[in-house]
Amino acid sequence: MPATVLVGAQWGDEGKGKTTDLLAPEMDLVVRYQGGNNAGHTVVHDGTTLRLHLIPSSILRPEVTPVIGNGVVIDPKTLIEEMDALAAQGISTERLLVSGNAHLIMPYHRVLDRVTERHLGRAQLGTTRRGIGPAYADKASRIGLRVQDLLDMKIFAKKLEVALKEKNAVLSRVYNQLPLDAKEIQAEYEGFAARLERHIADTSLVVWRALRDGQGILFEGAQGTLLDVDHGTYPFVTSSNPIAGGACTGAGVGPREIDRIIGVTKAYVTRVGAGPFPTEDLGPDGERMGAVGQEFGVTTGRKRRCGWFDAVLLRYAARLNSLTELHLTKLDVLSGFERVRIAVAYRHEGETYDEFPPHQSIFHKCEPVYEEMPGWREDIGGARELRDLPPACRAYVLRLEEITRVPVTVISVGPAREQTLRVEPVSVVA
Ligand code: GDP
Repeated sequence: MPATVLVGAQWGDEGKGKTTDLLAPEMDLVVRYQGGNNAGHTVVHDGTTLRLHLIPSSILRPEVTPVIGNGVVIDPKTLIEEMDALAAQGISTERLLVSGNAHLIMPYHRVLDRVTERHLGRAQLGTTRRGIGPAYADKASRIGLRVQDLLDMKIFAKKLEVALKEKNAVLSRVYNQLPLDAKEIQAEYEGFAARLERHIADTSLVVWRALRDGQGILFEGAQGTLLDVDHGTYPFVTSSNPIAGGACTGAGVGPREIDRIIGVTKAYVTRVGAGPFPTEDLGPDGERMGAVGQEFGVTTGRKRRCGWFDAVLLRYAARLNSLTELHLTKLDVLSGFERVRIAVAYRHEGETYDEFPPHQSIFHKCEPVYEEMPGWREDIGGARELRDLPPACRAYVLRLEEITRVPVTVISVGPAREQTLRVEPVSVVA
């Protein structure tokens, strides 16, 4: 069984939830490898809508073991709330495994996230203010507390004391905030420890054993390639590595174990929060994509910025992730446009860039070079095979495949599971 990585090929929100759901029947383990409770999956169960931010949506399938890997930062309060919400729906979380090496989000991380963003004023990054960035910063500074520290509250207390000394000084002297109380935090986290203890595991070993036994494993990335802290549009990025390589560090597996890498991309582009976005459409076309595509964040409710498909970015994502295939989502949203556009290059000060520009100033200021194709009027939500798509729509998909040089193997034409076309790679890239 190949180990598969699922990665967002754009700025996140590509519809990875649906792809995970499609792949789940082949999987024994679904592993999250980075991010925190800033991811968002909407899961519908028996008519009830649940919003999961931390637990993989495969929790709904009793035959799959959901794993939260070491690369994730965990707010135990949120994790327990999600477990309780699932339990209230009769969904068992018994099988959930959490890496002992994952770092904990602490109350001071949440406070710092809020006050530092405010401090940046107009230079705000648009973080979700859940303490994720500050928790990753402490991990790198080596003053983080880890999930395994919950298993020894004496050690926990010592580490908390060291961290809190510095945090309280910063909170009170720099940001004029009240200091936090160590005893209160300790008591709260002791309660969390009691709840989480039996889920804590050496998840890297669990994954290795599953690989050895030939089980199906899906490594699920949150956010997307352009939000990668190393390769994304820094500083408007997340604090971890969503790219496929992040699965190795964030789950504790070697790169040779991974042989299938699926990039999920919308048929257009969206972006949440601040930062450059060359193909953003501020006119009626972008407005229409947002309205038809229901482009609002699951976690924050924020309206997403919308624009035309950017093949330069997708080629960049294909290269960084070694994509072996593409899942194209939300193609139905493009029905009804007179013409559709694809950015094939950028232009800046007389130069043309076919590849992602090496300097961010160029990316900030460049103009997209568009290729235009005829649109299609038909509602395609009922399409189940490639030949059900109108010729103009099919031509658009083939062109995307041709320009990005990655075979499209799944096309999604609506939110429902059956609104999916599984396609044999058809173009020259196959
Ligand atoms: P994720 O974070 O990558 O899983 O993406 P989101 O969950 O934020 O976005 C997916 C949203 O788009 C969900 O509400 C899905 O039901 C919906 N969705 C997924 N695929 C399609 C599609 O092909 N067409 C339409 N119209 N909606 C889709």
